[in-house]
Amino acid sequence: MHGLYLIDMDKDLSQSGSDSLLAQTKKLLRRYDIRAKKGLGQNFLVDEKVLDTILETAELNPQDTVIEVGPGLGIMTAELAKRAGWVIAIELDNKLADILKTNLPGDNIVIIHQDVLGTDPGALLQEGAPRFPEAIKPYKVVANLPYYITSPVLRHFLEASVKPERIVVMVQKEVAEAIVAGPGQRSVLSISVQFYGKAEIVTYVPAASFYPAPKVDSAIVKIDVYPHPPFAVDDEDRFFKLVRAGFTAARKQAANSLAQGLGLDKAEIMVWLKRAGIDPTRRSETFTIEEWGSLWRVYNQVVK
Ligand code: SAM
Repeated sequence: MHGLYLIDMDKDLSQSGSDSLLAQTKKLLRRYDIRAKKGLGQNFLVDEKVLDTILETAELNPQDTVIEVGPGLGIMTAELAKRAGWVIAIELDNKLADILKTNLPGDNIVIIHQDVLGTDPGALLQEGAPRFPEAIKPYKVVANLPYYITSPVLRHFLEASVKPERIVVMVQKEVAEAIVAGPGQRSVLSISVQFYGKAEIVTYVPAASFYPAPKVDSAIVKIDVYPHPPFAVDDEDRFFKLVRAGFTAARKQAANSLAQGLGLDKAEIMVWLKRAGIDPTRRSETFTIEEWGSLWRVYNQVVK
């Protein structure tokens, strides 16, 4: 189904059009003498159905710009480039970046050899804008993420000055569940994602869908980023400092946790919580996003 057209068609590889993704992946690894690096989260996607689900969820069209994190061997990259106007693929691994630069076809793929966390999405888009005038902002992030940096990568894009409109990512199953968690199970992660967008699990993905297979199962998460967060926050760093303080002492009453995290008097925090309309005996895990908004408004007035 997914022919291998990403690598220049030499004798060895031109016959791989009908190969499964697993066979293509193994061939490429052999050909370039690559050993998957565990430290870089290199678990290559080898399940056609899952790849299709990611592509369908991204709902790409020729006006779209896609930023792909960790293109790896470039199999998904080539599929993205067939559907979108422009693909910016950011790969940290030296060898993979070289192979991708040499071999990926099409004029609409740009390989950036860098740590994704060191990139500025707005600057990347601006650099390429003259070449891709038809690919308009906002962009979409599509990735089978390296799991060791899932949360930092999500924050990197959600907190960027130029934000994506949609994020479709493969993440570890437990992390996916933490991202979409509702009141009662909330954590800093779910708040920091759901403050920016509507998050849902599209489907679960077994470990056998990757080569080499990781120890954990995975899930595809879709985040539709809001044009504006649900309430105004003029200083997001301070807002998330407040949220993190709320989770300093896990499973304790929010007043205790906030007092500990902010280094302030519990009595004072109790007053803020009451002013925000929140029962101070509740735990932070139970707060809704709107309640964090109410608490932020009180905090922002009182603590400067
Ligand atoms: N997209 C490929 C696929 O689906 O088969 C590979 C996905 S693999 C889970 C993660 C990829 O992210 C690897 O290619 C790895 O080298 C790359 N990577 C790891 N850390 C990175 C970072 N900080 N910045 C950019 N890419 C990174």
